[in-house]
Amino acid sequence: MRSPILDYLDAIVEQTGHVDSGATADYIPELAAADPNRVAVALCTVNGTVYASGDADQEFSIQSMSKPFAYALAIEDHGLEYVLDRVGVEPSGEAFNELSLDPETGRPRNPMINAGAIATHALIRSEEAPAVERLLGLFSDLAQRPIGIDESLAASELATGDRNLGLAYLLHASGRLARDPSAAVEGYIRQCSATVTVRDLALMASTLANGGVQPNTGVRLFSRETTRHLLSVMASCGMYDAAGDWFTSVGIPAKSGVAGGIMGVLPGQVGVAVFSPRLDAHGNSARGVVMMEKLSKDLGLHLMETGRPARSSLRGTRKETVEGEPTTVYVLQGDMVLSSIESLVHELVENPPSTELVVFDMSRVDEVLPVARTTSAAMATKLIDAGHRIILIDPEETVPEFQDSRGRAVERWTSERLEQGLLKEPAGPIG
Ligand code: GLN
Repeated sequence: MRSPILDYLDAIVEQTGHVDSGATADYIPELAAADPNRVAVALCTVNGTVYASGDADQEFSIQSMSKPFAYALAIEDHGLEYVLDRVGVEPSGEAFNELSLDPETGRPRNPMINAGAIATHALIRSEEAPAVERLLGLFSDLAQRPIGIDESLAASELATGDRNLGLAYLLHASGRLARDPSAAVEGYIRQCSATVTVRDLALMASTLANGGVQPNTGVRLFSRETTRHLLSVMASCGMYDAAGDWFTSVGIPAKSGVAGGIMGVLPGQVGVAVFSPRLDAHGNSARGVVMMEKLSKDLGLHLMETGRPARSSLRGTRKETVEGEPTTVYVLQGDMVLSSIESLVHELVENPPSTELVVFDMSRVDEVLPVARTTSAAMATKLIDAGHRIILIDPEETVPEFQDSRGRAVERWTSERLEQGLLKEPAGPIG
């Protein structure tokens, strides 16, 4: 059975096919030559399963999406105070490569614009290993696979990197650069040339959503405090001079890159990533922004949306005999949001029920967000098509008139009918 979450991601790619505005970055020759029609989307909840659609294995350069991780590494190296003394956290309201420093403090305004990112790169400790090597090690730990550098891309950007060099000299002149300007820019550009896929980015983002712990390996890569601080900076500064517009419409702390990637983090729930090389006037992927807007709306991901997500919507599973028939009972719980419904769907896809009769007991469910409703409707369709009979126990009417995605009504029983139907013989728990 294919997960309805994958079907949904396919639909996101299809439904945004008409967005062809913008152009590939032209100030880096290798990026200008990228295939503009590539498109991919991925998401990974804090449970660690990656779902991806489109050109999901296409590698592209991480570019500015490396900045959050470099910033976190510098903070882990020196402590927050030390880094704050050198790089601010105020949105600049300016383009990512603006030649400006805060006139009062002389600091770069934040670590997401190039001035701040070059200064940040230069802060990363390099006594034991070069900063770029340490960053690649970090990216690899985050993505659970070896991440390398596209050297020809790095050379291409270095050859046209006057603007970043200018920024570095400006920083150096104001005493704000810990290293030699050209070495700092070279390191920073190589950091930006690490190649990733949307799958990698979704996993990297899900580590941030998971408070700094890589969800699959269980390794803590950033402290809780660093992660919280980083996500706050991404929320206010990650999308440059489009940050306010982005935060109100999408509402996900995010970072974009000029190769066309956008990575977003919904704390406690999910990491998302999109890729499409044509950029808008702010240097953010044009189709990527539209895909993210859709994801946020459809999946209920806006940070300011209230909700109390349970880690899983599935409290437990029982085998019973109901009215003489062997039955699998799924006991659901809490607020059903993307991350909690994902783990239920994952269980149903990986371990489909072995009985024809399947009961979903929703007595302990508080609220069902639209994403959980559509996802469970899609899941119901798959179960019915596979020959199952579904019964819903929903005493609070959390989903009145539940239908599957083809409009077929799903049988509803009261808890009493389930109780009466149960054969009163011991039935062991199976999960
Ligand atoms: N390497 C790029 C630069 O410094 C990164 C910019 C970006 O992705 N916004 O210009």
